Amino acid sequence: MVKLLHDKDADMSVMQGKTVAVIGFGSQGRNQALSMRDSGINVIIGARPGASWDMAVEDGFEVMDVAAASAKADVIHILLPDERHKQVYEESIKANMTDGKVLSCSHGFSIIFGMIPAPSNVDIIMVAPKGPGTEVRKAFLEGFGCPGLIAVHQDKSGKARDIALAMAKAEGLTRAGVMECTFEQETYEDLFGEQNVLCGGLVDLMKYGFETLVEAGYPAEMAYFECVHEVKLIVDLVIEGGIQKMNSVISNTAEWGEYVNGPKIITPDVKERMKQSLKEIETGKFAREWMAEAESGCKNLLAKRETLGKHEVEIIGKQIRELFEKN
Ligand code: NDP
Ligand code: MG
Repeated sequence: MVKLLHDKDADMSVMQGKTVAVIGFGSQGRNQALSMRDSGINVIIGARPGASWDMAVEDGFEVMDVAAASAKADVIHILLPDERHKQVYEESIKANMTDGKVLSCSHGFSIIFGMIPAPSNVDIIMVAPKGPGTEVRKAFLEGFGCPGLIAVHQDKSGKARDIALAMAKAEGLTRAGVMECTFEQETYEDLFGEQNVLCGGLVDLMKYGFETLVEAGYPAEMAYFECVHEVKLIVDLVIEGGIQKMNSVISNTAEWGEYVNGPKIITPDVKERMKQSLKEIETGKFAREWMAEAESGCKNLLAKRETLGKHEVEIIGKQIRELFEKN
């Protein structure tokens, strides 16, 4: 059984006198930076001129370009989009990874797939909240925290694990519980989960359900409630007490339908395709293809984003959320 690390297992004193440069002030960057600062860590921001830079200034941070922040800080916590790591690292960070520093991130992608060639003279750590940045911050402000992962890829100083744990504590992650893992485990599992279950997987399940009802002539609003909105209510019950807890709250009719029909919809060949997906992640095939897409300007990504925006499930969903807000 994996041990969960909590507040008592982490000691913030290792961060005394240390400056953390959060590079990138987006979903993770902003929210992690705010919580670390609230917990007493000296945080500076590395950004480029634009919206993120302005927001960091508004939040009262010391903001500078990425090279200057990397030069000034002891811990360089890279929270740029993964597809930008290679270029920004080469141009602005690499020369500043001098002895004694710590290279940190929230996803092992760039280290594992070689976009950032691991420098041999520094600690390399990961502090990865297991949730979207805004939700991690929300949990922190509520006095609790989001669970997270820490990993040490290289321990040059002998203090790499202590630093990762202290940063996790500062972000509230040890309040919920932190698991230790390797960079490989986090990278492969994270990609697998988001492609097969959480984002890919779930999105298509919801869309197919919605489309089936609408194409059969049922009102789109009802189909949205049934196949999208209720997902959260059901998932909340599973998280609170497991699948059996959820089953104890839904009707016996729903539970019977789950047992007899669910396995006919999500059939064992889905699992075979998941195994194939895991292989493509582990061999680097997915990463190579995604980086090629990013290098070509994300043309396909942008086209898919636009197509999704036109799907009826998104249009109806927006209308329904507006009705909720009005009441
Ligand atoms: P976002 O896209 O939300 O934010 C990226 C930030 O990087 C923006 O502030 C953007 O600023 C900045 N940026 C982009 N290019 C440059 C550049 N060339 N120079 C300086 N700044 C730049 O990213 P996320 O927060 O989603 O992801 C960051 C990391 O966290 C990734 O490694 C990701 O895998 C990881 N992660 C993300 C999670 C999530 O839920 N989102 C969960 C766990 C980990 P600008 O306004 O200038 O474009
Ligand atoms: Mg993820």
